[in-house]
Amino acid sequence: MLIVFIGPPGAGKGTQALRLVDYLRIPHLSTGDMLRQARKDESELGRQAASFMDAGRLVPDHLVIRMVAKRLDNDDCAHGCLLDGFPRTLEQAQRLDDYLREHGIHIDAVLELRVEDEELIRRLVGRHRADDALDIVRQRLEVYSAQTRPLLNYYDLQGLLDTVGGQGAPDEVFERIREAVEARRQAAK
Ligand code: AMP
Repeated sequence: MLIVFIGPPGAGKGTQALRLVDYLRIPHLSTGDMLRQARKDESELGRQAASFMDAGRLVPDHLVIRMVAKRLDNDDCAHGCLLDGFPRTLEQAQRLDDYLREHGIHIDAVLELRVEDEELIRRLVGRHRADDALDIVRQRLEVYSAQTRPLLNYYDLQGLLDTVGGQGAPDEVFERIREAVEARRQAAK
């Protein structure tokens, strides 16, 4: 299955993504992780991405799209994968659609993990990541609202969107995700 996982920073998407790839036995393609790795490796991409990441802004589309397309070309993605944190802009979503069309693949489901803003700020400020100072947190939430939220409508119009509540214990949240994925699997049969 090819699944796109969308959610604001602080929604618990990282934790749930790990559980979902374990459950479905598909590769986990997290653009945040890939970009952090590129920085550690001090690659050209890492250097280009650094200032955007530190400011809580999005890395330019063309850099991220190229990185993802390369990764999707890998054989291990032949039977699907979980796209976590990508696409994050309409441009990225459209370029992804182009790529999938060219390769005769389609998205099976788009999962939105939804948590209210006040709850997100409460959760994020409680964390101690370097880029999670309060103003950066606000910045990341604003970027999500302005640039990523429009994707929900984009995918909803294609009949692909499943919204899952991110409140409650991780087990409860995962159960909702599992149900949504299983419903898609049944519908595809
Ligand atoms: P994440 O761990 O998914 O929150 O990503 C960390 C940071 O990496 C983000 O705040 C962005 O600066 C950058 N990033 C990750 N994925 C993308 C993407 N699809 N498009 C642009 N920037 C991204």
